[in-house]
Amino acid sequence: IAVETFNASLLFGPGTIRTRSGGPFRVFTPFSRACLAAPRPPRPMAAPSRIPAPRRWPGSLPLDALELEPRIDWTAGIRMAWEPGERGALRRLRAFLRGGVPAYPERRDRPDAAGTSRLSPHLHFGEIGPRQIWHEAVAHAERQRGAEDVRAFLRQLCWREFAHHLLHHFPRSAEEPLRAAYAAFPWRRSPALLAAWQRGATGYPIIDAGMRELWQTGWLHNRARMIVASFLVKDLLISWLEGARWFWDTLVDADLANNTLGWQWAAGCGADAAPYFRIFNPVLQGRKWDPHGDYVRRFVPELAALPDAWIYRPWQAPAGVLERAGVRLGATYPRPIVDHQQARSAALAALAAVTGRGR
Ligand code: FAD
Repeated sequence: IAVETFNASLLFGPGTIRTRSGGPFRVFTPFSRACLAAPRPPRPMAAPSRIPAPRRWPGSLPLDALELEPRIDWTAGIRMAWEPGERGALRRLRAFLRGGVPAYPERRDRPDAAGTSRLSPHLHFGEIGPRQIWHEAVAHAERQRGAEDVRAFLRQLCWREFAHHLLHHFPRSAEEPLRAAYAAFPWRRSPALLAAWQRGATGYPIIDAGMRELWQTGWLHNRARMIVASFLVKDLLISWLEGARWFWDTLVDADLANNTLGWQWAAGCGADAAPYFRIFNPVLQGRKWDPHGDYVRRFVPELAALPDAWIYRPWQAPAGVLERAGVRLGATYPRPIVDHQQARSAALAALAAVTGRGR
């Protein structure tokens, strides 16, 4: 049997973007520069006018017989948030190009603003292709003279590309850290802490908002993914593999390459990763990326009546403020499951044990 393969799910074949010495890139910025300088990815082909059906159909089942839908209907939030399929994907892309692109560079890091394209599930399931997005985005920029805004968006598509090329070159990275020293990292096994993180009951509002957004809608803003991932691996010292598994089970855009890159980035053990000793403070991260607490109020409604000043640290709020907001710590909302400052020191000590760094 003659087999031919065609690249459709990536902008560039993994063999075509290489360093000067011919190896794979391990650092994102030069990788993205090489992508942006490469000849434009080919335009997607037009849909075929006719697909000949087989002369005899193989034996089959009706789709319902596969019982793929869950028996308990827990998907209402997901149904409300997404329109699966090619039509939904194109609609989302065009709405984003019309309205979202100009504000993208400024708003893309804000979980409280719907500032990103939300194309990731459509991309993952092949309902739209990256080359299609690339060409529509570039054509839009040429019409609108918005080249810079579109460039910021194309750069994100290059992150996807980077993730997929890395997984191609390092296929074991979905299970093993790219930086070998991290294989000996002293991760903690704690089902109770892991469950608190999964349920959005850590007592840190930005973490809980993120984990509940994930559960309710099957999606999580990139900045929130970074913050909750950092909390799991650095504050709770639980392995990135546990986090990657949970995301794999709950994300509508769960994608082996992107998920692996994201988790290894957060754990400091991957290509071009955040250094392990840089540890996000969940209170400051909340204040910075959701300054008025809108995101927290949406997903952690039991804190909605707290004033902005305390919304990210309810455990430090005066008793009267808590009472007026109807918050009873330990009853209506949990106390923090770890102390961030102590957790930070423990993480640095663990890092020093494996790499000699971190102090
Ligand atoms: P936009 O900002 O509109 O970007 C457009 C497209 O570029 C995205 O749809 C996506 O395909 C790609 N992209 C953007 N940022 C990244 C990135 N950091 N890494 C790789 N590709 C990117 N993305 C997934 O698609 N599936 C995953 O399973 C996944 N797991 C992640 C786990 C962690 C811990 C982290 C930190 C990130 C993860 N990401 C994953 C990457 C990123 O968070 C999502 O792609 C992004 O939030 C999707 O939203 P969007 O479509 O609105 O993005």
